[in-house]
Amino acid sequence: MTEQQAPSGRRDLRLHLNENTAGCSPAVVAALRAMYREDVATYPRQPALQATVGRWFGVPADWVRLTNGLDEGIQMVAQAGAWHYGASRPSPAEVIVVDPTFEVYELCAEAVGARLVRIGPEPDFRFPTERLLAAITPSTRVIYVTDPNNPTGLGIPAGVVDEIARRAPQALVLVDEAYGDFSGRTLIGPRLERQRNLLVGRTFAKAHGLAGLRIGTLVAHPETISLVCRVQLPFSVNISAMTALAASLADRSYLDWYVSESAASRELIYDFCRRHGFTYWPSEANFVLLRVGEGASAIAERLAERRIFVRDKSDSPGCAGCLRITAGVVAHTRLALAALEDSLAPRPH
Ligand SMILES: *Cc1c(COP(=O)(O)O)cnc(C)c1O
Repeated sequence: MTEQQAPSGRRDLRLHLNENTAGCSPAVVAALRAMYREDVATYPRQPALQATVGRWFGVPADWVRLTNGLDEGIQMVAQAGAWHYGASRPSPAEVIVVDPTFEVYELCAEAVGARLVRIGPEPDFRFPTERLLAAITPSTRVIYVTDPNNPTGLGIPAGVVDEIARRAPQALVLVDEAYGDFSGRTLIGPRLERQRNLLVGRTFAKAHGLAGLRIGTLVAHPETISLVCRVQLPFSVNISAMTALAASLADRSYLDWYVSESAASRELIYDFCRRHGFTYWPSEANFVLLRVGEGASAIAERLAERRIFVRDKSDSPGCAGCLRITAGVVAHTRLALAALEDSLAPRPH
């Protein structure tokens, strides 16, 4: 094993929150250790890092706003949509989400007093384009879509997000690309110049392994960025998160290595599913949703007894009998699948 692949020495195998199972780049920890006392004593300023992040995504610095995790970006969009964007429009504000989906959208919609409009799943989680478009009303203020989606790992067909943004000029449309490093696709580009109500959200929590430091970004036309940033507290992104991100962006080979480990891990999980006759959905993200059947919750509990944590998704719309398992370092995936294999066998009394 190379140093990069060495297990972290931590006992738990955390495969339930789509964290980076290898940890962040070693360059990140070195940069944090090299911080000066004066750095820590200084209020953090974004501009230099915003320019670096802009270059990373191929846009100017003022198209980028760093956030305290992408969660903060999701919350900012809810607040800006509900309170500022077209404030003269009918209330209550409506927020549209596509089930099954990431829970934070609902929390943020509730927090701003908006009415949540859920678009239920189609067979095999095909993207419900027609039903989503039909749900748009003059009260729609925010539409959250996730590409690739969590928990399914499925992408949104090309052109659909543009169509949604065109058909809902009264709303902010956030496309959450938390897993964009794994899918290798992004909507960041010239369309954001034309489609001013469209924002792209990215996080450095997942592929970059900075979840514990809390840093993400919104990318949009500068007019949209400044509108949405009216609801952001000054200095919400801390200096260690910014130091870590600069170091992480400078170490692309670590990111590339991790993305390829994740892809290999997904293949192992698919093989496992085929051997056991489990339905799975081909994922563009660092996790796989698989249907193990009625025993899903019991299996997740049995794995947890062995300090292997997977996500029981049984209660999410369309996900009865499903587990979501993070696909990280290949060695970790092999351990998890061996344990999963054991947990499927009937238990001796
Ligand atoms: C993990 C996740 C996030 C949250 O990212 P943070 O930067 O940790 O706040 C946002 N959206 C989706 C879909 C996620 O899965």
